[in-house]
Amino acid sequence: MRIFAAAMKKNDNISDKKPVIISGPCSVESREQTVATYTALAETGMVDMIRAGIWKPRTNPNSFEGVGECGFEWLEEGKRLTGLPFGVEVANARHLETAVAHGADMVWIGARTTGNPFSVQEIADAIRGIDIKVLVKNPLTMDIALWEGAVRRILNSADNPENVWLVHRGFSQMGNGTFRNPPMWHLAIEMRRRFPEMTILCDPSHICGNRENIATVSQKAADLDYDGLIIESHCCPQQALTDAAQQVTPESLAEILTGIIWRTANTENRQFLEALERCRYEIDELDSEIFALMSRRMEISEQIGRIKKDNDITILQDQRWNAIQERLMSKAAEWGLSLEFIRDVLDAIHVESINHQNKVMN
Ligand code: PEP
Ligand code: MN
Repeated sequence: MRIFAAAMKKNDNISDKKPVIISGPCSVESREQTVATYTALAETGMVDMIRAGIWKPRTNPNSFEGVGECGFEWLEEGKRLTGLPFGVEVANARHLETAVAHGADMVWIGARTTGNPFSVQEIADAIRGIDIKVLVKNPLTMDIALWEGAVRRILNSADNPENVWLVHRGFSQMGNGTFRNPPMWHLAIEMRRRFPEMTILCDPSHICGNRENIATVSQKAADLDYDGLIIESHCCPQQALTDAAQQVTPESLAEILTGIIWRTANTENRQFLEALERCRYEIDELDSEIFALMSRRMEISEQIGRIKKDNDITILQDQRWNAIQERLMSKAAEWGLSLEFIRDVLDAIHVESINHQNKVMN
C-alpha cells in the first residue's frame, strides 16, 4: 500500500515534472526479476515511469533477444502493484500494437531503429489516433538530420506533440574509449535548438556503458538543463542477461539521484540577472576583440605570404610553427588554459593563416 501511494503521487502530470526519472531493466528476463525491480523502484519514490526491453535488438544473433510478448504479463503485474506506468522499445508496427494492447504508457524508438526511415514511418503510421508517449532516441551515427527526420515523422502522426520526447544516448564509435557511446553534447544541444519545446532526457547508462560514470554524466545532463534521465536498473545487475556492466540496483539508483543537483535555468532575481548581463556584455566585447585581433593577425600572414612569394619560399615552415606552439603552450599554466585548448586554437589559426598565405601566393 505504501508503495502504491508513493507511485501514484509521481504518476500525475509526468509531462510537467522536472526532472522526469525513468528507470528499469535493460531487458525483461523473468517474472521474478521484473516484479522485484518494478516494486523496488516504486519504493524509492523517485521514479516516474518504468522502462523495460521486451524485444532486444542485439548485434549477435545468437544472444538473448528478449522474452517477447509473454513479458508484458509481468510488467502489467508490476504496474498493478505499484501504479507506476511503463514503456518498452518498439521497432515496428507489430511491436507498437502489441505494446498498446498490453497497456504500455510509453514506447521508445531505439538508436538502431531511429536510423531507419522505413521503420520509423511504419511506427508513425501505427501511432495515429493512439494516446501514448513516444521517446525517440538519437541514431547510432552522428547524424542530426536523421534524428530530426525521425522526430518529424512521429510528430506528423502524433495526436499531441507533447507526447513526443527526445532521448540522448550517445553515438557509436569504433573501439573502446571512456564512453561506450560518446555523448557529443553539442549535437544534442543542436537538436534541442531545433525542437526548443520538446522534453529531452539523457540516457547516461548507454552513454557510459558502465555503472561508475553514471552519476557524473547525469550531473552534466542536469547542468545542461535536460528535463530528466532514463537509467537502467536491475534487481541483480551482475546477473543481467543484457548490459550487465551498466545496470544499477534500485538502491544505487536512489543514491545516484539523491546526489544530483538540479539547478534552475531561469530566475526572476534582478541581482542575478544584472550580474549575468554584465558578464555577458563583457564576453561579447572580448569576443569582438579576439576576432578583430585574429583579423589583424591574418593581414600579417598575408604580408608574409607576399614576402615569401617574392623570394620563392614554401608556406609551411615546420621549425617556426613548432617554436610558436612551444612558446604559447609554455604559458598554459600562467593563463589557466589547458594545453589541449591552446593546441586546438593554434591549429585553427594555423589552417586559416595558411589559407590566407595561399591566397596571396597562388
Ligand atoms: C536500450 O534502451 O536498452 C537500448 C537498446 O538502447 P539503445 O537503442 O540506446 O542502444
Ligand atoms: Mn540496454
